[in-house]
Amino acid sequence: MHPIWHPYTVQKSDLKEVHIAKAQSEFLYDIDGNSYIDAIASWWTSIHGHNHPFIVEAIVNQLQSLDHTILAGFVHTPAQRLAEKLIEFTDNHFYKVFYSDNGSCAVEVAIKIAIQHFKNQNINKTKIIHFSSSYHGDTIGAMSVGGDSAFNENFRTLFFDSPVFDAPDCYSCSWSSDKKRCKNECLEKLKFYFQREHNSIAAIILEPLIFGASGMKMYKEQVLLDLRTLCDKYNILLILDEVFTGFGRTGEKFAFMKAKIEPDIIAIAKGLTGGILPFAATLVTKKVYDPFYSDDVSKAFLHGHTMTGNPLASAAAIASIELFEKENRLAMVCELEKEYREFGQILEKKFPEKVKNIRFLGSVFAFELNQSASYLTNLSRAIFQNSLENGVILRPLGSTIYLTPPYTIQKNSLHKIFETILKLNCFCD
Ligand SMILES: *Cc1c(COP(=O)(O)O)cnc(C)c1O
Repeated sequence: MHPIWHPYTVQKSDLKEVHIAKAQSEFLYDIDGNSYIDAIASWWTSIHGHNHPFIVEAIVNQLQSLDHTILAGFVHTPAQRLAEKLIEFTDNHFYKVFYSDNGSCAVEVAIKIAIQHFKNQNINKTKIIHFSSSYHGDTIGAMSVGGDSAFNENFRTLFFDSPVFDAPDCYSCSWSSDKKRCKNECLEKLKFYFQREHNSIAAIILEPLIFGASGMKMYKEQVLLDLRTLCDKYNILLILDEVFTGFGRTGEKFAFMKAKIEPDIIAIAKGLTGGILPFAATLVTKKVYDPFYSDDVSKAFLHGHTMTGNPLASAAAIASIELFEKENRLAMVCELEKEYREFGQILEKKFPEKVKNIRFLGSVFAFELNQSASYLTNLSRAIFQNSLENGVILRPLGSTIYLTPPYTIQKNSLHKIFETILKLNCFCD
């Protein structure tokens, strides 16, 4: 047996891993030379396609001069340039950039900053609120603000206490059957809770517009607008986890821009380096940062990760943002949306009884198979195998089949993904 312990993987199984040897654009190639279209952009990261020469070159160039240095008491140009670029790329809404290495850590940092923001002002606000469909990562703090799932179950005793509210879900709404008459009833309970408990609440954290890992559950912008208003009213920080939604996924650079709201803190990771190197950041506004500006060490944010601000990852992220703007990725996402609209209609017409909740936003397309299936049943595994045999990588979340391809995917590759879905065994009687 090989010593690699694979993530999210049943250990005793006959299934063999796909051994990947190389990648280019939207394609992964295994050691036997078979190609696969990466319809999920390798866990939603590879926004420009794999091995983009512009990013590869930026990393190689950086490696000629500086590999790594600590970021406490030291600084280097790539980390500086990237922070400036990120502030600019988020329309100068934020003031400071705190680096880390992955989405979970970016979320932990956001939570700790929110807590200390109030502590530094001697305000006793310590609660973090979350929604039931949330996913913020697999570290203990991130799991504490994550929704119920089989993944978290074994560790519940370690979580910090975080009040949870039923998540909005506009394609499977449990409050109102008539979309047109929706008055955001999904926020009613939360409103009452804020009214009663706001003195003890530091922040609310959520994924803007799409709850990704819990099954691409989408909700409308008005929910975020209402949350912003509520948070303003009660001096509660609004933390948006843009780890998945950031860098164009929803059709705008960031989901908060799509909803036209101003969050206090955002966490970013997945698309940050174009999916090439591990990297993450937490961005905060001046208001959030100000209480940390002090010569008193007890007011400093005493947190850091060894590889924080790594020059190679910074160089990759700078190149990725440059590409994003230079090659107009948002226009490509807009094209994807048009394709999704057409494909959604075909899917609906062909399998009216077998699929439900067909939806899309930006580069994300999703629907449910009309049968109950948890993440842990064989259905998603079967679809994965079935699509793989057709040269496409799909990795359903339970009964939710979804697409999050690189924005640069060619039309014929996208159409091959569509055909593969239409031919899936689960649609054949
Ligand atoms: C993937 C994800 C995370 C966790 O990021 P990692 O890099 O896997 O730690 C956090 N939040 C959201 C919304 C994510 O999609």
